[in-house]
Amino acid sequence: MNSKEKIIALRDELREHNYNYYVLDQPIISDYEFDIKLKELQKLEAAHPEFYDASSPTLRVGGQVTKNFETIVHEHRMYSLDNSYSKEDLEDWEKRIQRILGNVQVEFTCELKYDGASISLTYEEGKLVKAVTRGDGFQGDDVTTNIKTIKSVPLQLKGDYPPKFDIRGEIILTLEGFAKMNQERIANGEEPYMNPRNTASGSLKLQDSALVAQRPLECLLYSIEGRGLSLNSQFEVLEKARSWGFKVPTVAQVCKTTSEVMQFVEYWDVHRHDLPYETDGVVVKVNNLRHQEELGYTAKAPRWAMAYKFKAEQVATVLHEITYQVGRTGAITPVANLEPILLAGTTVKRASLHNADQIAKLDIREGDTVFVEKGGEIIPKIIAVDFAKRPGDSVLTKYISHCPECGTPLIRKEGEAQHFCPNYTGCPPQITGRIQHFISRKAMDIEGLGGETVELLYKEGLIQNYADLYILTKEQIMPLERMAEKSAENLVNGVEASKAIPFERVLFALGIRYVGETVAKKLAKAYKNIDALMAASAEELVAVDEIGDRIAESVVQFFGEPSNVELVSRLKTYGLQFSLSEEQLESQTDLLKGQTFVVSGVFEAISRNDLKKLIEDNGGKVSSSISSKTSFLVAGANMGPSKKTKAENLGVPIISEQEFLEKVEK
Ligand code: AMP
Ligand code: ZN
Repeated sequence: MNSKEKIIALRDELREHNYNYYVLDQPIISDYEFDIKLKELQKLEAAHPEFYDASSPTLRVGGQVTKNFETIVHEHRMYSLDNSYSKEDLEDWEKRIQRILGNVQVEFTCELKYDGASISLTYEEGKLVKAVTRGDGFQGDDVTTNIKTIKSVPLQLKGDYPPKFDIRGEIILTLEGFAKMNQERIANGEEPYMNPRNTASGSLKLQDSALVAQRPLECLLYSIEGRGLSLNSQFEVLEKARSWGFKVPTVAQVCKTTSEVMQFVEYWDVHRHDLPYETDGVVVKVNNLRHQEELGYTAKAPRWAMAYKFKAEQVATVLHEITYQVGRTGAITPVANLEPILLAGTTVKRASLHNADQIAKLDIREGDTVFVEKGGEIIPKIIAVDFAKRPGDSVLTKYISHCPECGTPLIRKEGEAQHFCPNYTGCPPQITGRIQHFISRKAMDIEGLGGETVELLYKEGLIQNYADLYILTKEQIMPLERMAEKSAENLVNGVEASKAIPFERVLFALGIRYVGETVAKKLAKAYKNIDALMAASAEELVAVDEIGDRIAESVVQFFGEPSNVELVSRLKTYGLQFSLSEEQLESQTDLLKGQTFVVSGVFEAISRNDLKKLIEDNGGKVSSSISSKTSFLVAGANMGPSKKTKAENLGVPIISEQEFLEKVEK
């Protein structure tokens, strides 16, 4: 096989694996094997930019940055849907339809109404060419680069697809994916997102498509525009779309009467809680496409479709007590302890009250009967108080002024909603929270040690901080509750093994606020070892690509705390990795040392992010604006004209992608 054949074969193979994994949910190779193949393809494509293909699976990782999303007028308007809430509403609708169509037998397709952000995808010759948000229905934003990173969106179709058509669907986040994203945010000391729908729609407008690629978004399809496709019914549309490689949920069903439709609604009103994503109703569509055409549209919605909204999931229950939780960063979260009640298929005992303002705004008090709602949030929330049921002796809630765990007076910074316990070194949940973060899977991944054991070890006075883990002995652990020789041994071995964990993960494990996995990697690469990082000032830190003021200040503050400096120095003596490994350093050269690059435009053989990475790996610096200090402007397609003029005026050499790649060839 020559390179071209190899590239094509790999693309086909990876496409098929993507399809198995993301559309069918049935992977047939491991993630590891997939990554190996993907890397191989990336390498070949980088060496052969002449075989560029906009639908290559390598482009899934994103990297292109969109500053302003272009407005696109929809070729076919994206309508809204009329709503119905009862069987009577549906029967009235059926009568209206019958009046227009004459007395013909009308069938319906019932689908679920996926709760996300609507999207219109345009395919030409089987390739995705455009993805546009609904916007106001007439025109939306071009979000193609972001949509390309969503793995269930096929970049290349299969089967008997027509030459050109638009297909519509909903971009959603699965509940599991959403929960995971929030766990990570909480672990990084950030505020969790409110619900999957807003997070999904917000994701489409992120400027950096590499960030979109990291989000577990999915695309569920439900209609095709562009008639004359020789299809007869909505049900066939769904089946066809599925056969071309789209993810089309299989719960759709053809119903002959409104009673059958109601059965579908009632079934899914209950069973929707078993689905991996959120739905907010059923969409009933006239099945026959000729009938649809005859029925047409009102000013706002198709006459041939109707949404049946599920009842909001809301229950009333008694709030017994408001308690306060202290997180790893010291943030205080008020929690409502409720009379247990069944809601959306699960028993609810607690609800988040968010912060002091929220409690004051709703005037929530102990003893109140409150309305609880469950959306996509991890824990349900209180939306209102039933004032009619307020007991006579009710007292206004007074927010705590001192930490419930350590008694320290709480602080609240300007512009922040949350109260904080400032007792960084002495507040128990902050101490154990930091240790739990340190040992977690994405950090030091210490086998044989879990969150509860950390609490136990702390309570028994065996550890005060994560460095203490490294001096624990089997003899100390064995006498503890639920510990035996074997488990004590596992724990000690697990701790020992963690000494091999690479620098960037150690850095993440330290638990510096706002330093998540990605930021830790960036900092590790930029500074190469902890001493250099600790010596960096905030100004120097923000010079690192993608490090902003907030992160920089947090890093400086962390290392400004003497107890943290001591922890690091102890961990060093225990043998943890505090610099990049030989191997990591080897992939880095000094070829571009002292040179500053500005990167502009769209590139072919390599993504913009990879190009920047190459610059940094080879000792160069990436800057976002051109000045007399700029060594080279690397110009891709569609480069901004002002950059070009500025470079020319300052005499900064402009080089092509190819010329740049030659510089770093080893
Ligand atoms: P609304 O925004 O409430 O007027 O509802 C219309 C929106 O429902 C459409 O723009 C779609 O984004 C969304 N939707 C979700 N699931 C479906 C489905 N199965 N069929 C049609 N539209 C759907
Ligand atoms: Zn405290």
